[in-house]
Amino acid sequence: MFKNETHKTKYVFVTGGVASSLGKGIISASLARLLQGRGYTVTIQKLDPYINVDPGTLNPYEHGECYVTEDGAETDLDLGHYERFTAITTSKANNVTTGKIYQSVINKERRGDFLGKTVQVIPHITDEIKRRIMLLGKKGGYDVVITEIGGTVGDIESLPYIEAVRQLRYELGYGNTMVLHLTLVPYMRASGELKTKPTQHSVKQLLENGLQPDVLVLRSDKELGQELRRKVALFCNVSPNAVVESIDVPTIYEVPLKMRDQHLDEVVLEKLHLPCEGESDLTSWIDFVEKVKNPKDQVNIALVGKYTELPDAYKSIVEAFVHAGAVNDVKVKVQYINAEKVNDATAEELLGGWDGILVAPGFGHRGVEGKISAVKYAREQKVPFMGICLGMQCSVIEFARNVIGWTDANSSEMEVPTQHPVIALMEEQKNISDKGGTMRLGAYPCKVARDSHLYAAYGQEIIYERHRHRYEFNNSFYAEFEKAGMRATGINPDTGLVEAVEVVDHPWYVSVQFHPEYKSTVKRPHPLFVGFVAAAMANRKEK
Ligand code: GLN
Repeated sequence: MFKNETHKTKYVFVTGGVASSLGKGIISASLARLLQGRGYTVTIQKLDPYINVDPGTLNPYEHGECYVTEDGAETDLDLGHYERFTAITTSKANNVTTGKIYQSVINKERRGDFLGKTVQVIPHITDEIKRRIMLLGKKGGYDVVITEIGGTVGDIESLPYIEAVRQLRYELGYGNTMVLHLTLVPYMRASGELKTKPTQHSVKQLLENGLQPDVLVLRSDKELGQELRRKVALFCNVSPNAVVESIDVPTIYEVPLKMRDQHLDEVVLEKLHLPCEGESDLTSWIDFVEKVKNPKDQVNIALVGKYTELPDAYKSIVEAFVHAGAVNDVKVKVQYINAEKVNDATAEELLGGWDGILVAPGFGHRGVEGKISAVKYAREQKVPFMGICLGMQCSVIEFARNVIGWTDANSSEMEVPTQHPVIALMEEQKNISDKGGTMRLGAYPCKVARDSHLYAAYGQEIIYERHRHRYEFNNSFYAEFEKAGMRATGINPDTGLVEAVEVVDHPWYVSVQFHPEYKSTVKRPHPLFVGFVAAAMANRKEK
């Protein structure tokens, strides 16, 4: 629904210069949250200049976690920030890559749609980029669409995107569009100075490509001061109030507050010719940040996974714990434990003393045996336990081996001979050879058993959660599991697939085939994480 009376969608483009990883995603999400606080409807989109059609085929070490949307798109992790900050539901249209752009242009060429014309970067690729940008605005009735351009200005790959933005600004009008450029202001310890030259150069680079930024957000370790802002404003042709600093803060959730202090939302609304009375209402946000910054207690969770060297590999899980911690008034310290180091002999040393244990999602056999040992430890020692996706599959394998007594039990993903493939490929998956976009992806319904931890957490009988996997609980073995004390407490009502299992004789043991972490937001912390943290707190008190 529009707040903006002209019912015309306005477009904000976010670019980055000097270096990558400056936090364009967080700035975009923060701006969106500030505009929401003023009653505007907003969505955010990410354009990624790489040639992969989507990040689903990327190793998490390349770009961090792959985020999954409700409609089953495998996307960049920035979409996770967008959803967590704004509680909007993103979709396939919110993440576009160069691979996707070229794929659709080439498909059109093969169909003969270009009627014999030479197909070129300009206009055909740039037209497709523009179409994708506009698609969201046309679809949603948003007042503002924020489009983040991945990569750094000056990269060869970004050029068509910058050109598309240049054309759109010309076509839509300057009061209907604006460019926010994020750069780095390094501090030179030797001379004790903050340096603005890299910023000036990256703005020059943008100008060379025909784009004048309207707002500059400068990442820095130190406060910038009026003099420096004036200098940047003068040399980069922006008004001094449109030079905003972004200094590292203890929690990313403080960024919207810092941006509001500097009136970023007012500057943006003014550039877009949108009304701007009063202040952005951030009351609930401030309450949340207060809780994150002033916890009353702490719980310690061990996260057992194989991508433990890279913090971003489990981004959504870590953030879901921040949200759940705030609800429970505690800080949740999440410690990554390398699954490859865990076995039955080291489990006590590595996992003893944690208030809760989470076994993470993943692919392939590396680290799986360690994950299975971690589940065994949590089950036997009665430590609150959550398994997610591959983590759930490991808990099923562990139970089959150590409780039912099928010592060869395994997942068929591991490709070892077994009489007990307790996790196996579904019929529909058997003939698929393409890796990209072919898993069970996106939201599916799940029916929750009344007398379960799952129901205690959700308080609802039908839930919708997002999936990203090929393998499933093998229902032909189910009866034995139930007899031995592992129950399916969540079942897909349409297909009968097992979506969640719980061990009956345990204080809190919930393993889910879906990924609850993708749906946790500041506005709606995920009930399962809230329940897990509460169980970990209870465990801590008992000790
Ligand atoms: N590798 C498992 C599967 O494909 C689990 C995937 C995951 O943990 N996301 O079924």
